[in-house]
Amino acid sequence: MWFRRDLRLRDLPALSAAAQATNVVGLFVLDPAFDGAGLPRRAFLGAQLRELSEAMGGALVVRSGAPAKVVPQLAAEVRAGEVHVTRDFGPYGRRRDAAVAARLTADGRRLVGTSTNHAVAPGTVVKADGTPYAVFTPFARAWRASGWPPPGPQVDATWREVPGVDVPTVETGAMVAAGEHAAAQRWVRFLNDSVDAYAQVRNLPAVDGTSRLSAALRWGVMHPRQLLADIDPLGAHRVFADELAWRDFYADVLFRRPETAWSNVNARMDPLTVDTDERAVRRFDTWCRGETGFPIVDAGMRELATTGFMHNRVRMIVASFLTKDLHIPWQWGARHFMAHLVDGDLASNAHGWQWTAGTGTDAAPYFRVFNPTTQGRTYDPDGEYVRRWVPELRDVSGDVHDLGRRRPDDYPAPMVDHAAERVEALARYQRAMGR
Ligand code: FAD
Repeated sequence: MWFRRDLRLRDLPALSAAAQATNVVGLFVLDPAFDGAGLPRRAFLGAQLRELSEAMGGALVVRSGAPAKVVPQLAAEVRAGEVHVTRDFGPYGRRRDAAVAARLTADGRRLVGTSTNHAVAPGTVVKADGTPYAVFTPFARAWRASGWPPPGPQVDATWREVPGVDVPTVETGAMVAAGEHAAAQRWVRFLNDSVDAYAQVRNLPAVDGTSRLSAALRWGVMHPRQLLADIDPLGAHRVFADELAWRDFYADVLFRRPETAWSNVNARMDPLTVDTDERAVRRFDTWCRGETGFPIVDAGMRELATTGFMHNRVRMIVASFLTKDLHIPWQWGARHFMAHLVDGDLASNAHGWQWTAGTGTDAAPYFRVFNPTTQGRTYDPDGEYVRRWVPELRDVSGDVHDLGRRRPDDYPAPMVDHAAERVEALARYQRAMGR
């Protein structure tokens, strides 16, 4: 059993398939291709691998190196006829698995893929004529109609131990707890306290009203079909289920068009003028540090730097600010997010950025430029979220989103004039579209 983005023992069809054998070797490969992943993601991975190994009685075998070498080598060493995996649909995962499968086949063994990390596998939701959906709403309708299997049981495999390396310890301040138990606890708390009010509170970053399971889903600590089985996805909890549909939709888009990880989904936006000069580099740096002088933007960037997480509403606000107020390429922001998010996921991240930048599927119309001040007032009306993450503003009384003369000396003045940059952004988008 070669674990990748399915780091759990419960409800794991690939493990059920592997456990048909009398004993199973459980492998995780520390792939040098992960070296570029940000520290928070690697820290979570390390903690999760330790939890997984503990749940296996210490039997997880960790090896380091290129999977196309390590996996066939171990398979030969333990004389495994089959290597079982959960199918991976990402651009890198597909290339890697094709290479591993080819080597195994050459040795007379098999790579066996079972199930996926999604409620509905990428590539399977299609229109009546077999073509893919380009926008979310009809995709989600077909996604709901296609349904998903119920969760499976915990599999009691008989693990066989072979030597491996230690899981590296990566220290960060990231605050997402690892482990199946922690994820299940978080889920139960969300079910008890928040799921019924999700549609009302999910946009309020000061409120603990979302599941916070994105890292657990990203690493397969929990499977979305488990979440869907515990709620009423077509009725009372449809808004929450839709978020899981967005996750599958973006994975589907990336599966069909792998190049959109870093380039525009909508090629009509390719001519958009973006700033990449020295001033843009300095401005980007100011944004990364959370010193833009726009309180909600700074709060979000500091939440990210401190915890490896950022609330969805605030992700949209900071992304809009970077692309539409600073005119910086969305790819710069996406790269920064991937370096810092514990839940960093190529599909959700690239397409979340492109949605905001107006270059993606279902793109927010290019003329919808988020005003950071009114967004702050609407979604953080008491300024509680801003005060939590921007200590300079903790003691400011009144509206924290529009400081005016109440701006403390140690907090920066707004780095741009939003109204002027909005006009500039609209002009650039109109030029790009030839209007
Ligand atoms: P909940 O509100 O509890 O939602 C439940 C689950 O649904 C999430 O855990 C997630 O798996 C999925 N989900 C929710 N919203 C979205 C969405 N808009 N798109 C896709 N899936 C969604 N999500 C990531 O998992 N990884 C990323 O790298 C990522 N980058 C993003 C970048 C930008 C610019 C934007 C606007 C959004 C991004 N998102 C990303 C989506 C979303 O912000 C997070 O999934 C969400 O904030 C995680 O918090 P939660 O688990 O409490 O979500």
